[in-house]
Amino acid sequence: MDLNDTPEQAEYRAKIRAWLDEHKDEAPILQGEGAITDPDEVAREQRKWQAKLAEGGLAGATWPTEYGGQGVGPIESVIINQELQRAGVPNVFDVIGVGMLGPTIIAHGTEEQKDRYLGPMLNGDEVWCQMFSEPAAGSDLAAVQTRAVQQDDGSWKLNGQKVWTTNAQYATYGLMLARTNPEAHKHKGMTMFILPMDAEGVTIRGLRQISGEAEFNEVFLDDVVVDADSVVGGVDNGWGTGLTTLMFERLTIGLGSSSFGYRGRRFAEALGEDEVASRNSEVRHDFGELAAELEAVRWSGYRAISALQGGQIPGPEFGLAKITTVNCAIKAGDLVADVIGPEALAEESEWAYMISFLPGLKSAGGTEEILRNTIGERVLGLPPEPRLDKGVPFSELRAIEKEGAAA
Ligand SMILES: Cc1cc2nc3c(=O)[nH]c(=O)nc-3n(C[C@H](O)[C@H](O)[C@H](O)COP(=O)(O)OP(=O)(O)OC[C@H]3O[C@@H](n4cnc5c(N)ncnc54)[C@H](O)[C@@H]3O)c2cc1C
Repeated sequence: MDLNDTPEQAEYRAKIRAWLDEHKDEAPILQGEGAITDPDEVAREQRKWQAKLAEGGLAGATWPTEYGGQGVGPIESVIINQELQRAGVPNVFDVIGVGMLGPTIIAHGTEEQKDRYLGPMLNGDEVWCQMFSEPAAGSDLAAVQTRAVQQDDGSWKLNGQKVWTTNAQYATYGLMLARTNPEAHKHKGMTMFILPMDAEGVTIRGLRQISGEAEFNEVFLDDVVVDADSVVGGVDNGWGTGLTTLMFERLTIGLGSSSFGYRGRRFAEALGEDEVASRNSEVRHDFGELAAELEAVRWSGYRAISALQGGQIPGPEFGLAKITTVNCAIKAGDLVADVIGPEALAEESEWAYMISFLPGLKSAGGTEEILRNTIGERVLGLPPEPRLDKGVPFSELRAIEKEGAAA
């Protein structure tokens, strides 16, 4: 594989770089001296910057041109990420909307939904949130219990609870998975809805993390009514629609990982600044190991990009990149903290947020155990886990689980 830019890619990179040279001073400063810290101000400024990026064609670039994108391929999207990182400016604020939910609406939405929702999403005028997880439906997403019941006038009444809902506090809309037919087995009988977050009966409560921020929320739905045309991808077809979102989630996390800043060079520079640590054989050995793994992730990322460029969807093995990146970054954070000492966790330290946020990333986008199970079953051909719920109506599952627990 030739990893150098083709002449067309080099031209594209130069165009992006020139745009960033001209506009990077308009980006909000989120780290270091002069950084804004108030979460609401951060969100406001990042949304403004997202609008700027959209204007320059750097947001949602892989979206088709009729919906405001540039219709470019995944390599160009990686080039944009690399150039944003090089310029030291943030990416879009609504990564979930632009990276995952917009593409889901493009794939499954009606023309009216695409016309209404995609433009304001891309510009950051309307932020979106992903309302899939529930207290008893995370890894086992098909266990969703939020109920949607159709009314005589065609509208739907929603009741239930969602959790871990990133950005719900800023969101105008949520893309929400709810159960519409409990008599069908659990992967059937779910439907995807567009939920206006200011609808009557929606309550949003922030969940504060160890990093000090409250990026995600729990959302309660009490007799919330949404119109018939809020269904995305067909009634009882929510699992299929949701799988599209999860596929884009995997790509967003995978292809964006280098722009998250978890790179060997960054950790090496921090460790190298400490003369004693940089000569310590144990530190060098530990760093060498994790740097080699991060390098392997980078190279296998190129394989995934090539697959995408060739029109293929990267398979479940791509999940390994997420596991390795997160685990290496956690180890690197520990190593940096060992070397720097307690100051690594001081509020103004560039490492504090990374160290406290990363353990959460072990769960986001699929936990390590689930990703490893999937790789075991689908890539290595190991025997699947026993499934007691196959073909059983969702409404009968509780009784079966109780019997299983009592046996
Ligand atoms: C930072 C962050 C942001 C998030 N943002 C969103 C969001 O915007 N919208 C949204 O819908 N969700 C979001 N999530 C939720 C995320 O998708 C879930 O955390 C994830 O699916 C895991 O579900 P859970 O937390 O309920 O853990 P559980 O599924 O309860 O798992 C608990 C533990 O049991 C293990 N486990 C479970 N089943 C198995 C099995 N079969 N075999 C072996 N081990 C198993 C898991 O690996 C894990 O260690 C976010 C999560 C995080 C951390």
